[in-house]
Amino acid sequence: MKNTVFFLLLFVFMNLSYAQDIRPCYFDQFINEDSLEEAERQIQEGINKFQSDQRNTDSAKVIPVVVHVIHNGGSENISEAQIQSQIQILNEDFGKFENTNGDGNGVDTNVRFFLANLNPDGKCTNGIVRVRSSLTNHQSYQRPLLKELSFWDNSRYLNIYIVKSINGNVAGYASFPGGPPDEDGVVVQHNYFGNIGSANGFFGRTLTHEVGHWLGVYHTFNNSCGIDVCYDGDNVCDTPPAFEPNYSCVTLNTCSNDIPDLNDQKENYMDYTPGACKNMFTEGQKMRMQSTLNFIRTEIWTDENLINTGYDSIYITPDICPVIADFVTLTKDVCIGNSVNFSDISLNDGTIWQWQFPGGTPSSSNEQNPLVNYESIGSYDVILIISNTITTDTLIKENYINVSAPGVGDNLPYNENFDSGLYPPIDISINNPDGTITWQLDSLAFTSSNYSMSINNLENTNYGTVDEIVLPKLDFSSNTGNLLFMSFKWAYARSDPSYSDELLVLLSFNCGNSYTQVFYRSGSGLVTGPTQTTPFIPDSTQWKDAFIILNNFKTESFVEVKIVNVTDGGNKLYIDDLYIGNGDDLVAMENVFTDNLRYAIYPNPVLDQLNLELILEESQMISTKLINALGKVVVNNYPQNFVTGKHLITFSTSKLPQGLYFLILETEGNYNIRKVVVQH
Ligand SMILES: [Zn+2]
Repeated sequence: MKNTVFFLLLFVFMNLSYAQDIRPCYFDQFINEDSLEEAERQIQEGINKFQSDQRNTDSAKVIPVVVHVIHNGGSENISEAQIQSQIQILNEDFGKFENTNGDGNGVDTNVRFFLANLNPDGKCTNGIVRVRSSLTNHQSYQRPLLKELSFWDNSRYLNIYIVKSINGNVAGYASFPGGPPDEDGVVVQHNYFGNIGSANGFFGRTLTHEVGHWLGVYHTFNNSCGIDVCYDGDNVCDTPPAFEPNYSCVTLNTCSNDIPDLNDQKENYMDYTPGACKNMFTEGQKMRMQSTLNFIRTEIWTDENLINTGYDSIYITPDICPVIADFVTLTKDVCIGNSVNFSDISLNDGTIWQWQFPGGTPSSSNEQNPLVNYESIGSYDVILIISNTITTDTLIKENYINVSAPGVGDNLPYNENFDSGLYPPIDISINNPDGTITWQLDSLAFTSSNYSMSINNLENTNYGTVDEIVLPKLDFSSNTGNLLFMSFKWAYARSDPSYSDELLVLLSFNCGNSYTQVFYRSGSGLVTGPTQTTPFIPDSTQWKDAFIILNNFKTESFVEVKIVNVTDGGNKLYIDDLYIGNGDDLVAMENVFTDNLRYAIYPNPVLDQLNLELILEESQMISTKLINALGKVVVNNYPQNFVTGKHLITFSTSKLPQGLYFLILETEGNYNIRKVVVQH
């Protein structure tokens, strides 16, 4: 299913038939395959029960909604009026309200929505939480972090997140029923939310579409034309199959296997057509929603939950809700000298903030989102008094921030070839936040003698999630010599040419408070073997070398190094022969000759022109760099194709200061490094 949709998206973009450079929905990237099958079984079973007993679908079910606005102070911090405009549209569309855009040829789904009037603690609220955070520029693999910022019990509330961007250009995505709580909810870009304020497209139908997914409904073009119009595709009989997403309101008939052969239902909320021509859910889609609510999301619409969340017909909203103090940080455990960003998530529009930070600098603040530095070991309370002109509230979180000594990392060099056979290898930890497929020892392929580490992304289908190999803390300042670098070997193949898993190397110098990316590969840049749908097992020629210069970080004494896989359901990724340390010993002044590449560097030491002579037995892409002893690139020749034969590449060194340099010659899959001395 995923393959089809992704391919079709690319196809459509290549043909420029879609005016805006936005992907309407990323739902297919976020289906939790582990829970999908069981959820689908429950939905089908529920529909079968309805066929003998209609009572569970006859009366409207009402869903309490909380909207978390994740913003950075820009237009993505949308108004309450814009949020209310979206809730109104949601009800018009799901309720087929007369004389609204939602009054098309479909049905009333008997699902309704309201902004919660009571929070999980039973306190008065407008159902809107505002959080200032850089996570407003949302990347798919950071999905659990949104929930760490703000999340209300998903068995009682529909959690909707507003962000500035999703992977750059995605309008929204939703979770399917039955998945893990920390993945539940809907994420929408602010400019596709509602129909006033910053909203600029789709008539507010992005949320209608995403909530359709959240209630167990697929795209109308799911699995293309499929085979059986009832039990394939979107598993709904009364939505005609569609070969691919429709991006315009033009009437098309892309599948002919339905009887009678009907046009694609461009009016259906679950296609990708513009909001202007969407106006219907079908009876079959309604049955899936009702089944989801009766058998999976069973608590959220009960009378008891409506009372506890303050549904309008039961609860009388006071003129003003008192302020409720609350705050969050993305980390509570820090090292001496680290700073912590406090995000105010108080409810009901406080205007005055009085923070107290015992043990911190500053020790108090009136800012809404202060940055506080901690210089002493200990556990520290944080106090927030929030008020507006009428009400005030105080929150004390005891021992909230824990400050520890950073310690001293292990001396370099660091070597790990995984051949001990221990899992996890000594002093290495594996981070597997979703608890499913992760990095394992692998004896099927290796460059050292026994094992490598691999992750099976063929089965790792919880798209967008991370799995991390975390090395022991290292003391980079213990490095002797001029060149500090990290190297490892990797091997990877894709299962489909149109998408790819990702490999990153991240460093933290502040106990995990923040990370610096020093290596990133995806797509063709990650591939070392042929695309295949069976598990990839590399032979000895299908490994590549990663070479990362770390000279910029030579003074850091407590460094966390993480090797990260972000899954896209591709194929197996292997890592072997990790090394972090001094490059000097591995780098000779002499010229070398290998089987497929012969080269010579002269003169060395060099005065004003360095010559690199290459002899190639087959054409290949080659790039060259000259870097100084601090790791700064002083000459950079980007990759270009060199044909078979002899070549001369020259570097002008006349203006370079005297000293030690490194010439890096990168071929397809190999790094060659040589010391060069410039003497004037
Ligand atoms: Zn969708």
